[in-house]
Amino acid sequence: MSAETFELQGAGWLKRRPLADLLAALDRDGEEARVNGGAVRDALLGLTPLDVDIATTALPEETVRRVEAAGWKAVPTGLAHGTVTAVVDRRPFEVTTLRRDVETDGRRAVVAFTRDWAEDAMRRDLTINGLYLSRDGQVHDHVGGLADLRAGRVRFIGSARDRIREDYLRTLRFFRFHARFARGPIDPEGFAAAIAERDGLARLSAERVRAELLKLLVAPRAPETVAVMAGAGLFAPLIGGVPRPSRLARLAALDADAPDALLRLAALNQVVREDAERLKSRLRLSRREADRLAAIGDGGGPDPADGEQAARLALYCLGREAFRDRLTLAWAESGAPPDSAGWRSLLTLADRWTPPKFPVTARELLALGTPEGPLVGETLRCLEELWLLGDFSLPGNWRSLLPDLCSRAR
Ligand code: ATP
Ligand code: MG
Repeated sequence: MSAETFELQGAGWLKRRPLADLLAALDRDGEEARVNGGAVRDALLGLTPLDVDIATTALPEETVRRVEAAGWKAVPTGLAHGTVTAVVDRRPFEVTTLRRDVETDGRRAVVAFTRDWAEDAMRRDLTINGLYLSRDGQVHDHVGGLADLRAGRVRFIGSARDRIREDYLRTLRFFRFHARFARGPIDPEGFAAAIAERDGLARLSAERVRAELLKLLVAPRAPETVAVMAGAGLFAPLIGGVPRPSRLARLAALDADAPDALLRLAALNQVVREDAERLKSRLRLSRREADRLAAIGDGGGPDPADGEQAARLALYCLGREAFRDRLTLAWAESGAPPDSAGWRSLLTLADRWTPPKFPVTARELLALGTPEGPLVGETLRCLEELWLLGDFSLPGNWRSLLPDLCSRAR
C-alpha cells in the first residue's frame, strides 16, 4: 500500500536535542526510525507533544547496541514486544521495533517483527494514532489518519469488531480519543462494535481500565461521550454501579478550567458510601484516592442556603479537601448555574478562612478544678460542641459554669 506523505511545518521540537540526537543515531546505517503515535497526532494539531515514542526497523538488540554506543542508557522495558527505553539526557523515549500481531487473546499479543511500516501501522488502534513522522518533518500515512485528523473523525484501523476482539482496551481508547479529538458524532461502526463486544470489557485488568477511564473523564467531550457509553450499558462490565452521566455533565460545567478526574468519577458513579469501596477495588485506586472518595461518602455537602456559619462548621468537621469535594458535588447536584455567586463564594471559604484550633486544653480544665479521669475528656467534648455552636467562640462565662457543665457532661 502506498503512503500519503505530508510536510509538517513548525515542529521545532523534532529538531531539538535530545530527541534529534536519538533519531540521528537510530535512523542511519541501514535502519530507519520515526516518531509515531500520539506525538505525531498532537503535533499535527499544533500541540507540542509531552511524550515521544519512536518506531524503528532495527531489532531490539540493535537498538540497545546503538543507544549504548552513543553513551546513553538502554532499559529493556518490553523486549518480547520489541520495546527498549532509551534514556537520553535523563529523558526517556520508548523505542519499539516495527511489528505485527501474530496472536491475540483480547488482552495480550504475540508479535513478529517486520521491516514494513504499513504492517506496523495496521496493528495500531485508531487511524489518527497510526501516523509516523521522520526526522526530516515528513508525515507518513498508511491508514487514512491525516484525513481523519483534519475532519475530526475517530475510527478504527480496519474492522472495528476485529480490532476490539484483539484487545478490548481499544473500546475504551475509542471513546477516550473520541471525547478528546472528534468533532462530529461517534463513529457508528466503532460504536456498534463496542456494544456487540461489551462483555469483553469485564476481562480487562483494573489498572488498564483505571488509566483509560480517568483520562476519558477529563477529556473535552467527556460528558456527552460518557452519556453515550452509559446509554449502551458499557459501564456495568467496567466498574459496576449505576452511572449518572447528567451529574457528571453538570460537574463538568463547573470544573471545566481544572477538571479533576477523581471528582468526576465520584460525580458519575458514587451515590452512596459503599460505592467508594466498589470503585476502590474495581479500579485499584491508591490509598490516597480511596480515602478521598470515602470522605465524600454519600455526599451531603454544605449549601449556601444554610449560610456561612453552617459552612464554617462543615469545613471544620470535614477538612479542606472533603469540604471542597462535597460542596462541588452538591453544587452540581443542585443544578445551580456555574456563575452562581452564592456557590462560588462558599467554595472560596476554604481559601479565605482557616478553622481555629479549639482553645481549651485538658491542662486548663485540671487547673480550674475538674477532677482527673474520664470527666476531663467528656467536658472537653461538651465544651467543643458549645464552641462550635457558638461559631467558634465560647460564652464569656464558661469558666464560672464549669462545675455545672461537668455535671451535665456526666
Ligand atoms: P496519549 O496522548 O494519551 O499518550 P497516545 O496515542 O500516545 O496518546 P499511547 O497509549 O501512549 O497513546 O500509545 C502510543 C501509540 O501506540 C498509540 O498512538 C497507538 O498507535 C498505539 N497503541 C497504544 N495502545 C494500543 C492498543 N491497545 N491497540 C493498538 N494500538 C495501540
Ligand atoms: Mg503517548
